[in-house]
Amino acid sequence: MRKLALTVAAGLLSLLSGTALAAPPIQVVAAENFYADIAQQIGGPEVEVASILNNPNQDPHDFEASPSTARQVADAALVIYSGADYDPWMKSLLDASPSDRRKVIVAANLVHRVSGDNPHIWYDPATMPAVAAALTAEFSSRDPAHKADFEARLAAFEASLEPMLKKIAEMKQKHAGEAVTATEPVFGYMIEALGYEMRNQDFQLAVMNDTEPSASDLAAFQDDLKNRKVKVLIYNNQVTDDMTEKLKELAQQSEIGIVGVTETLPAGMTYQSWMMDELTRLDKAMSGPGS
Ligand SMILES: [Zn+2]
Repeated sequence: MRKLALTVAAGLLSLLSGTALAAPPIQVVAAENFYADIAQQIGGPEVEVASILNNPNQDPHDFEASPSTARQVADAALVIYSGADYDPWMKSLLDASPSDRRKVIVAANLVHRVSGDNPHIWYDPATMPAVAAALTAEFSSRDPAHKADFEARLAAFEASLEPMLKKIAEMKQKHAGEAVTATEPVFGYMIEALGYEMRNQDFQLAVMNDTEPSASDLAAFQDDLKNRKVKVLIYNNQVTDDMTEKLKELAQQSEIGIVGVTETLPAGMTYQSWMMDELTRLDKAMSGPGS
């Protein structure tokens, strides 16, 4: 009897200490690891985030979901994915496991991008602030006790983007209107934000869709490199084939700067440090060798 009383007392104490009262973390599944990073930055200890596309050696355009991914999605409280045809497999998984309690954020809907637009919307500097705000609203409605925490983290996130926005403005001032090219459209929105001219876009779409670029598109790309009509080749390290490799060699021979970029967030980086790293390397390449 005395032992039972002690056990009850201990139980009450742990309840009063608050730990037993804390809500379990909100289970979040992000289709891509850069959205998982933002969800973690906003959600802090109040969320538990898993991401599906996070292998730097995999082409995200060729991804196929496994049964374990399907289970993760079925059990999630909140799912976030890019949309605009970037990750159609996620829509299929959601349709396969309908749920009233699960919420879904589609990043493309927040920034009014649709099927047929360049799907790499996280490279548009306007996208992540919209995603962060949507996550803040969603987390706050799930866990109102931590609303002030979520809002404080949103403010910190917005402030942390300032160096990137400043960098973009500086790079625009220096090189607006100058021409660059790329092997795949991943960096397209950032080039738009920088005010540079992006050449060979049809070729890039063919690489993204894993189709054969036309002979004339390939010839035009080669001509741009051989005759140095572009300052920089932006090279998608995650979506490559023999043709992109050959173009990279041609750029090297012509002494055109090559800037490697990735589709997904590299290990050990945040969205902010990732963007700053790529922008810094592009800035250097735009200014030419030896600068
Ligand atoms: Zn891509």
